[in-house]
Amino acid sequence: MEKILIIDDSPVQANFLSSILAPDYTVTVVNTAEAGLEQAKKEDYSLILLDVIMPGIDGFQLLKMLQEEVVLSHTPVILITSLNDIQHEEQGLTLGAVDYITKPFHPAIVQARVNTHIKLYRYRTQIEREATVDQLTGVPNRRRYDEISVQRWQDAIRLGVPFSICMFDIDKFKVYNDTFGHPAGDKVIKAVAEAASALLRRGTDFFARYGGEEFVALILGGSAENDFSHLRRVRRAVEDLHIPHNPEISPWVTVSIGGITVLPKLENSFDTYLKMADTMLYDAKRFGRNQVVWTSERMEQWREKDAK
Ligand code: GH3
Ligand code: MG
Ligand code: MG
Repeated sequence: MEKILIIDDSPVQANFLSSILAPDYTVTVVNTAEAGLEQAKKEDYSLILLDVIMPGIDGFQLLKMLQEEVVLSHTPVILITSLNDIQHEEQGLTLGAVDYITKPFHPAIVQARVNTHIKLYRYRTQIEREATVDQLTGVPNRRRYDEISVQRWQDAIRLGVPFSICMFDIDKFKVYNDTFGHPAGDKVIKAVAEAASALLRRGTDFFARYGGEEFVALILGGSAENDFSHLRRVRRAVEDLHIPHNPEISPWVTVSIGGITVLPKLENSFDTYLKMADTMLYDAKRFGRNQVVWTSERMEQWREKDAK
């Protein structure tokens, strides 16, 4: 059930509102602005009903505070008041409230408005989710990668932990498409994404479709040796799918992977290291494909074929 937070200093009013909504939603009631802010930070609400007139921090001030919290700024807020005047209504809507309910409320109208905003919220979160997920494979898309890579890079700098970037590319995929057709190629991209993402599921891992038949993985807090050997496992997992390739090329579909592990500092640029990961990928192709090539910021290079 969708969760709603009611913030109203009058327990009578709040409980009445709650009783109107309780059959359809999980409702939490708090009676002060402070408790409201705390509760809103703690839980994920689909809608907040906020009384305007409260002692201390009033509804308008609290609305502003809610807007300033990044996560909360997406939660729709409906203002409740007995002030039936245009000026307050305008002020509330300008501050970002999605709607306005005036006391005394009619249960059917409150329900209808709440239902509408909950529906809109659901629709919006679904659209936002879809906008960051790759349609074909269901893994995060390039857009999501662009956001996450910046965040994770900054996390690594702040925490002082190593950061690995790796680029994947399916081998001789043009030939695959030419041999088996584009729809079959799409299935391969999907299967490769599934196999790789299944091995990159920890909270510190991130895996995305970079574009076309290329993928990218980011790992926070590992080490060059561990991440290199983990990506070898990923590489083998793809080979072990035993998806037949054009026999003139290779028995199975395979991937080449290039990676780098660095201890990032403020003055370093993520893009420089991404390019180095790409250079390692290029080397993996050059050394014969179906292998992982890794480096560190000291420019040591680990090659899978040597490591066997
Ligand atoms: P290499 O081993 O050097 O990577 O060779 P390659 O043939 O994989 O490299 P190239 O970059 O020349 O070709 C990539 C191919 O991937 C060409 C393109 O048609 C195919 N491709 C890219 N995106 C998609 C997709 O979404 N679906 C399918 N089926 N094919 C795609
Ligand atoms: Mg490519
Ligand atoms: Mg390729």
